[in-house]
Amino acid sequence: MTDAADLAPIREAVRALCADFPGEYWRRLDRERAYPTEFVAALTKAGFLAALIPEQYGGSGLTMTAAAAIMEEIQASGCNGAPCHAQMYTMGTLLRHGGAAQKERYLPGIARGDLRLQAFGVTEPTSGTDTLSLRTTAVRDGDHYVVNGQKIWTSRAEHSDLMLLLARTTPREQAKSRTAGLSVFLVDMRQARDNGLTIRPIRTMMNHATTEVFFENMRVPAENLIGNEGEGFRYILSGMNAERILIAAECIGDAKWFIDKAASYARDRVVFGRPIGQNQGVQFPIARAYIGMRAAELMVREAASLYEAGKDCGAEANMAKHLAAEASWAAADMCVQTHGGFGFAEEFDIERKFRETRLYTVAPISTNLILSYIAEHVLGLPRSY
Ligand SMILES: Cc1cc2nc3c(=O)[nH]c(=O)nc-3n(C[C@H](O)[C@H](O)[C@H](O)COP(=O)(O)OP(=O)(O)OC[C@H]3O[C@@H](n4cnc5c(N)ncnc54)[C@H](O)[C@@H]3O)c2cc1C
Repeated sequence: MTDAADLAPIREAVRALCADFPGEYWRRLDRERAYPTEFVAALTKAGFLAALIPEQYGGSGLTMTAAAAIMEEIQASGCNGAPCHAQMYTMGTLLRHGGAAQKERYLPGIARGDLRLQAFGVTEPTSGTDTLSLRTTAVRDGDHYVVNGQKIWTSRAEHSDLMLLLARTTPREQAKSRTAGLSVFLVDMRQARDNGLTIRPIRTMMNHATTEVFFENMRVPAENLIGNEGEGFRYILSGMNAERILIAAECIGDAKWFIDKAASYARDRVVFGRPIGQNQGVQFPIARAYIGMRAAELMVREAASLYEAGKDCGAEANMAKHLAAEASWAAADMCVQTHGGFGFAEEFDIERKFRETRLYTVAPISTNLILSYIAEHVLGLPRSY
């Protein structure tokens, strides 16, 4: 595992970049529900989003611990990594399961940022968390697959050139096993838009650039199938640990931002002739949020270190995501309470970050499903669904 001293320059560099994107920048985008194009361009130019791409493909070849530090610092600086975090990890499926020619063709462009691979089409409106019930089909037709169906919550689809798509290639009743029959494709959305692919934005409580996408006889070249037909569910699952660890690191960054903001306000704000932070009723919730954040941070580090050692980290990645999402949400709630009325004022940025961090107990996997995973896979309890 990279040690803290090695990471200090990376953390400082991310902080320095983020300083150019202060609260006013994010507030304006939030009001307009606009995409942070300049922020994403700056992160790309600095190479931060290519952290996990090996050097042979033009990336920085950093560890998961270093990548997590980048995402954490973005959030701790008051910025928002959600518009581009997927550029960091979605390529993992291609890297691990793609063929040599696919990797040569796509990874250098993704590392440079010329190719944006940050749309991940898994969730569907009717199946939700039950991924194996998804209905989007890809049917082989000569040297193409023809895709029909619909995805929902496909974030950043309007700001991505490529999409990693999970679709059914063998009807469920004919599949060899419960998890077989799904396949992963790399869809070039530049060609597919208006050729069977329609993207519709969904406005949400925060500025998230999420969409629903519709496929109507969309043709995908067979050479864009990743790995073997029918094994896509396994490939997607293998990428989820990285996603969980990185999003957990973002939650740690959010929690640190809320805790710093609250502690600083509680030291300065004087009511009844003394700083509000002198009251234990105000200082204890801040201390409690800090303890929760630190405990979660240790689990994120543990998960990242197992991941980069190539060990199984399914339980730790899930627990890290769970603890960190709970810690950031608890810190967000505490921060509003500490600020009283000002917690609701737009110019303090708290209400914006509060809305943004709320997502992570639901997506990319909701709390209940993590608890089910631990109950079943760690504690040996019967599968509940
Ligand atoms: C802003 C946003 C961005 C997203 N981005 C993407 C993206 O880029 N790509 C993508 O593919 N998806 C994306 N998602 C989808 C996200 O991963 C799902 O919303 C999430 O996994 C929950 O699925 P669902 O919304 O279908 O809820 P459902 O599966 O309908 O579940 C609803 C509730 O019921 C609970 N529940 C369901 N089944 C069980 C059970 N068996 N036991 C206990 N509780 C249960 C869930 O925990 C949840 O609380 C995004 C979602 C949002 C809101």
